[in-house]
Amino acid sequence: KVRVRFAPSPTGSLHIGGARTALFNLLFARHNNGTFILRIEDTDTERSTEESVKQIIRSLKWLGLDWDEGPDKGGEYGPYFQSMRLELYSKEAQRLVEEGKAYYCYCTPEELQAKREEALKQGKAPRYDGCCRNLTQEQKEQFEREGRKPVIRLKINEEGQTVVEDIIRGTVIFENSVLDDFIIMKSNGIPTYNFACVVDDHAMKITHVIRAEEHLSNTPKQIKVYEALGYEMPRFAHVPMILAPDRSKLSKRHGATSVEEFRDQGYLPEAIVNYLTLLGWSPEGNEEIFGMDKAIKEFTLERVNKTAAIYDVKKLTWINGHYLRELDGGYITDQTIPFLIKKGIIEEKEVEKNYDYIKEAVMLSRDRARTLEELADMISFFIRDFDDYEEKGVKKHFEDIKTAELLERTAQKLEGIVEFSKENVELKIRELAEEMGIKAAEIIHPTRLAVTGRTVGPGLFEILALLGREKTVERLKKAAL
Ligand code: GLU
Repeated sequence: KVRVRFAPSPTGSLHIGGARTALFNLLFARHNNGTFILRIEDTDTERSTEESVKQIIRSLKWLGLDWDEGPDKGGEYGPYFQSMRLELYSKEAQRLVEEGKAYYCYCTPEELQAKREEALKQGKAPRYDGCCRNLTQEQKEQFEREGRKPVIRLKINEEGQTVVEDIIRGTVIFENSVLDDFIIMKSNGIPTYNFACVVDDHAMKITHVIRAEEHLSNTPKQIKVYEALGYEMPRFAHVPMILAPDRSKLSKRHGATSVEEFRDQGYLPEAIVNYLTLLGWSPEGNEEIFGMDKAIKEFTLERVNKTAAIYDVKKLTWINGHYLRELDGGYITDQTIPFLIKKGIIEEKEVEKNYDYIKEAVMLSRDRARTLEELADMISFFIRDFDDYEEKGVKKHFEDIKTAELLERTAQKLEGIVEFSKENVELKIRELAEEMGIKAAEIIHPTRLAVTGRTVGPGLFEILALLGREKTVERLKKAAL
């Protein structure tokens, strides 16, 4: 039975790379009726924070990437925080020492540093020289008396090769000579990543390790740990990197990279999940719209690309626009409201009684929006008055000396409508155009600018009908002044 895990280190917020790794694990688990586990790798006590744990969990939940076992959920193989599993690592490391597969090393950081510098001077790659491999009991006791705190290192045979059979990348061969007796337990009793990860993946019965390509170089070390501990190996799948459009490493200067930043910019979780699904994985067809259900049905690791994925915010934005148009109107309204509040367009306590009105404004405008942020801006004029008119509109539609008269007459005409429906509004505007001997468009454009402050938007008659007679007339008169 398939068991996979997402194992973030809580040293920052969840970035799109991490979210994509989590997503691929989830899709793989669901596709195979397996189990998706969340494990928090918080052994780096200096860099791990409680806040980051919360943020990662919040982001995963917001994206709808729900785990079966892990924090908040529990499960048979917990605890799911590495910081709560230290005894297990210590026990396994001890076992390796007893079996002669690992040993205590008393070298101080200064001594190691000196050796590293010496190696570099001689033009050699620095590797640990194994000098503590065969310490006598007396030597050990002497070091202990000096107050040295040992680390535990794994014995590595530098001959031969270690072969990673990766589901995505195929066979990847590493020369053992590049490995050295690496540390599995630090002197403070905390395991290193490569050790804790293996102990946990085994203890949690992980069948497939699906993770970022940057960890591929760790895999031969982890294989050595598996071999030493006598564990059965999982299968490995390293998903390709995500690069910026210029093929450089994705960073801050390329815009938002964390899930919460995308959320704050008005991206929908559905859109991000859809976008991430296609970031390094290709379905059989060339469909771009891929909901989670469909992705679960079709997802296989074999179709994950070998080459780096190029991050393209334009495509994400396009997909977001699609979901803004297609998802349930009530849902989109609910998603838009926090943006209205944040922008000061409406007060929180005003939301409930205006909900239906806001929803209609959303329904009318959402076809044109690409993000919730834009959508909130687009409907602001429905909710609050404004004094600023789009500049290019003012030049085009307000500078004629007759505009004031035109707006005044439009106001008078519309004031008389009893049932302020879009049909009646249209009828009256066309009637007025005829009376004045002008085209309806000559009324529509300045009216739009007067009432919405903008030159583009949904159909004017619908806008006016929703806004209502009072506001419409008031704004026409105000603009006429
Ligand atoms: N804690 C590691 C990371 O966040 C996990 C790598 C793995 O999945 O093995 O990169």
